[in-house]
Amino acid sequence: AAWEKAVRKSAQRKEGGRLVVLLTGAAGFVGSHVSLALKDRGDGVVGLDNFNHYYPVALKRARAAKMKKAGIFTVEGDLNDQKVIARLFSTVTFTHVLHLAAQAGVRYAVHNPLAYVHSNVGGFVTLLEQCKNTVPQPAFVYASSSSVYGLNSKVPFSEDDRTDHPASLYAATKKADEVLAHTYNHIYGLSITALRFFTVYGPWGRPDMAYFSFTKNIIEGRPIKIFQGPNHEELARDFTFIDDIVKGCVSSLDTATPSTGSRGKKRGKAQFRIFNLGNTQPVPVGRFVSILEKHLKKKAIREIVPMPSTGDVMFTHANITKAQRALGYNPQTDLETGLKHFVKWYQTYYAKGSGHEDTLKGYMPF
Ligand code: NAD
Repeated sequence: AAWEKAVRKSAQRKEGGRLVVLLTGAAGFVGSHVSLALKDRGDGVVGLDNFNHYYPVALKRARAAKMKKAGIFTVEGDLNDQKVIARLFSTVTFTHVLHLAAQAGVRYAVHNPLAYVHSNVGGFVTLLEQCKNTVPQPAFVYASSSSVYGLNSKVPFSEDDRTDHPASLYAATKKADEVLAHTYNHIYGLSITALRFFTVYGPWGRPDMAYFSFTKNIIEGRPIKIFQGPNHEELARDFTFIDDIVKGCVSSLDTATPSTGSRGKKRGKAQFRIFNLGNTQPVPVGRFVSILEKHLKKKAIREIVPMPSTGDVMFTHANITKAQRALGYNPQTDLETGLKHFVKWYQTYYAKGSGHEDTLKGYMPF
């Protein structure tokens, strides 16, 4: 009963609030930011996260603690746990689901393929089944990924480009999600929006991502590896600042139309949308490191190494015309400014005496 009470309270809307959102992956990087933004507008938000050990759990706990202070309750549970999911939906009537929980990362998949199938396919279907069976059905918005473009050579990447040649297992599960989502949309009338995020960075970011380990290694005077392609070309990414991604997520929820089916019976065509959420400014990793050096006031020890064949693509570049039109999505933060925010957060969070000094000890993502 205490659990139900906490969930109901977290779902309550305040003045100005319209949505009641189940936000999965709430203790994650993107999830924690979006949940705070929604709560701030007055929307009701209930978080779900299994606090898995893919990267230091202390960081997830710290994010959840910050959210708790803002009145957001995060249920600790797995997407695949049908009982927990069903209990959540019988406790609260959710207008929207923002599904951000996933096994992320490209390299981890080389040795842990089933972790991706478990969360990104099994968990994904468990949640869609629940949404399909709930009356009224919520609208479903979720995180896809720029990785679905695989070895696409057409730049910038547009939503209609081919996505049938994933370059990693992670990408394959994200592509599978788009196919599954489309199927639930046209068979069961679920309103679906898939958001293809492009390399998201910022405060409270993910320790498994390169920018995070670059920062750590520069501070500690250790060498950093910069990958190079077979023709000495530099790896480039369309780095997108977290605040811009948050705006894209919120606007996707606001413009999602209701689902049209109930108990599996379709009553009309439901919305199905796919959007790129990127920055449209691909930056070579070397330039990225130079900006980091400037903010950290310290030189990096650069090691240029050939790109390992673990599923990373050489470059990403989003065409965001579609999101601009439909969502009013307009990324505002350039890399200089965004990295300044990240470095400031990093230095505070991992400052001596903060209690987080040991969180990343011995943690080498590559
Ligand atoms: P994250 O790892 O920080 O957050 C994901 C959260 O989901 C984690 O807290 C994890 O504990 C939780 N989770 C994982 N499996 C779960 C399960 N089975 N049940 C319950 N909770 C589970 O990652 P993020 O960077 O915040 O990414 C959010 C979403 O965006 C993910 O779907 C990711 O694939 C996608 N995405 C992220 C990026 C990026 O650059 N950060 C780029 C493209 C796509």
